[in-house]
Amino acid sequence: MVNETEVIRSFTRVKQDINNINERINELIETQRKVISYLNSIKVQKSAKRLIATIKGKKVHVENCPVAKRIISKNKIAFSSKIDALNKGFAPCACMED
Ligand SMILES: [Zn+2]
Repeated sequence: MVNETEVIRSFTRVKQDINNINERINELIETQRKVISYLNSIKVQKSAKRLIATIKGKKVHVENCPVAKRIISKNKIAFSSKIDALNKGFAPCACMED
């Protein structure tokens, strides 16, 4: 004789397990997404030229720009990307056009 209450309880447990597994899968997918985006950001940084500006200036330059070379290290700031520089309120110098 099958106990109906036991069967219902078993199904409830299985359902809970499936929900837990789904939660874990979603966590793993989210982690994977973060890892991929981190790896992509490293690739971008490696290929990008070093960008610098003076803390008192309004323009951002590539490192070998004549203007950039005159910036004394005390006033120099570096950016991880062009977007980073623009977000901080700097405009691109003509040296960044190429
Ligand atoms: Zn420049």
